Amino acid sequence: MTRFNGKVALVTGSSNGIGRAAAILFAQEGAKVTITGRNVQRLEETKQEILKSGVPKDHVLAVACDLTSEQGQDELINSTIAKFGRLDILVNNAGTAFVDSQGKTGLNQDVSDYDNVMEINMRSVVTLTKKAKEHLIKSKGEIVNVSSIAAGPQAHSDMMYYAMSKASLDQFTRCAAIDLIQHGVRVNSVSPGGVTTGIGEAMGLPAGAFEKMMKFMESHKECLPCGKIAEPVDIAHVIAFLADRRLSSYIIGQSIVADGGSSLVMGCHAHDLMKIMSS
Ligand code: NDP
Repeated sequence: MTRFNGKVALVTGSSNGIGRAAAILFAQEGAKVTITGRNVQRLEETKQEILKSGVPKDHVLAVACDLTSEQGQDELINSTIAKFGRLDILVNNAGTAFVDSQGKTGLNQDVSDYDNVMEINMRSVVTLTKKAKEHLIKSKGEIVNVSSIAAGPQAHSDMMYYAMSKASLDQFTRCAAIDLIQHGVRVNSVSPGGVTTGIGEAMGLPAGAFEKMMKFMESHKECLPCGKIAEPVDIAHVIAFLADRRLSSYIIGQSIVADGGSSLVMGCHAHDLMKIMSS
């Protein structure tokens, strides 16, 4: 399938997880892609996965950078334009949460964790979008943000700073959508529930802890009615749908929930998930 033929997509956080799956999908469906992350080895793994599926080498640009640095962001945008000459799709996917090394949660968690999570999950999205804006206006392009069901409306007090960053991102999606649709640029987002990715390790959880929580959810219908944790490609398909104007042109400023039914029941709130991960 080549529905993104002639398009250029920049997917942040594509050295792992959801971003990697989205970059592979865009490339397989005809787009030229810029992939990025800090981990050079994982970035190379994404590139090799893309090439393995028969995508020409000159359709992929890998840029290793820290997205919290504006210099890194400039390099990302400038090298994409220099190589491909345009930008049609920006996927603001890179993100993480930070757990406290002493197990502190909620308001007991240090405010430095709040600063760090807001810097990557929110501030970097604003600054990168500002830098990409003129190119997306030229192409009448698409922005897809990756949020989370942790954005609410239910409280997520154990991971409150992460949840706050995603709630803030949802409001950014709505405001930016209205700001940019006058120029023909659409902004939307996807809100995943649990997805098997590298996020547990990135958060600083002990090896296997995140996977333990995912298994627990799978075996408890009040947490996950569909009984199966998502694979990154499940979310990548929603990202591609929101970036495909032929299919989703009338969706503006929305966050599409893709969570196997979790947010309809939210029974997970009856369990102490931090305890489950540390048991
Ligand atoms: P992963 O940890 O597997 O991937 C995160 C990606 O973000 C990596 O490529 C990582 O690259 C990149 N990243 C993180 N910090 C930075 C940084 N400072 N600079 C550049 N790149 C950075 O996690 P997921 O795939 O799960 O996460 C993707 C998005 O999905 C996030 O926004 C997350 O909040 C959201 N999400 C995930 C859910 C899940 O259950 N997995 C549920 C709901 C939402 P590198 O390490 O190479 O820098």
